Amino acid sequence: MNIELRKRYGIYIHVPLCRRRCDYCDFTSYVTTPEIRGRVAVGLLKEINLHPETRGRTLYIGGGTPNLLGVGELGDLIARARDRFRLPLGAEVSIESNPGANSGLGYFEALLRAGLTRLSVGFQSFNDGELRMLGRLHRSVDTDIFSSARRAGVRSISIDLMYGLPGQRPEDFSRSLESALRVGVDHVSLYALKLGRDTPLGLLVARGELPPPDPDAAADAYYASLDHLEAEGFLQYELSNFARPGHRCRHNEIYWEAGYFIGIGPSAVGDDGEVRRRNTPDLEAWLGSVEKGEKPDCDVERPTPAQRRMEMGVLALRTRAGLSERRFSERWGVGVVQAFPAVEEHRAGGRLELSRERWRIVREHQLIADRILSDLAD
Ligand code: SF4
Repeated sequence: MNIELRKRYGIYIHVPLCRRRCDYCDFTSYVTTPEIRGRVAVGLLKEINLHPETRGRTLYIGGGTPNLLGVGELGDLIARARDRFRLPLGAEVSIESNPGANSGLGYFEALLRAGLTRLSVGFQSFNDGELRMLGRLHRSVDTDIFSSARRAGVRSISIDLMYGLPGQRPEDFSRSLESALRVGVDHVSLYALKLGRDTPLGLLVARGELPPPDPDAAADAYYASLDHLEAEGFLQYELSNFARPGHRCRHNEIYWEAGYFIGIGPSAVGDDGEVRRRNTPDLEAWLGSVEKGEKPDCDVERPTPAQRRMEMGVLALRTRAGLSERRFSERWGVGVVQAFPAVEEHRAGGRLELSRERWRIVREHQLIADRILSDLAD
């Protein structure tokens, strides 16, 4: 067996199942049935077996809605991944979850025994009108998932919230954020709604049945949140991510550091620094392969050194640590300005700053980060 021990990987397992599709969703996720759930759980174990033994750093089980899987199924996945990828004792093990699926005290106690260290809850909003508009199944009162996870002893609990929704006022978002802080979370991820044209929500906006998101309201909501979260003791360590001390997501930091990762499950992506593979998102095609003990179809890409260089720059600029001039030039043999001439213009315009050899996006311009970063890629 080919044992790759030189590199250490973040391990991502995608559980592509949900109770129903939300109206804004463009992730790889399918409406589940008990039969499909069982096949997916076994298929994921089989795909893990198809990987050579490697050294893992973190495990992240995302979705979809991983807490639709039973505790035995998730426990088996964690145990198999731990073994196959030699996860160190105490490694971060995150599970994404949604209200309305398994979320009782006993469930989390059993997951803790299996190795869970971090729970990430897709709550999105505490406003019932917004939850209805998004096509979410839960309502603002459905917060038991937080209390049972906390009572069970889950060390780190994160919440996802969405801003930039049609008709959402900054004060609506502030109220959601306040409610999130009241349920007692250690980590907050803020996402701007990306309105996919082919999603039910995108179609409603395109037909004029809902107002398009207001960019000024989104900006006010975002910047008010930065102040609020900072005042509550959260550190913004990436453009969309805020953590109390000791609660950053190590797994996501591997992506931002342009590190190595392995992807298991439909649409999951792996990258060993040379080859990037994306599994087919087609559930039946994926199941068909793994059930026969074969690797699933995947798109294979070999990013050029120039692409890798650009990705490293763009990902690092998303973080509070910023892009280290020294590390970048040691790795690539050129300085940041030489590699990305657009940084000079953004620095002159006050959108990027260079301080103690690190480049960062200036706080007042974080909301246009995607535009700044896409200039670097040109
Ligand atoms: S819970 Fe997430 S993955 Fe599932 S349908 Fe909703 S947005 Fe998509």
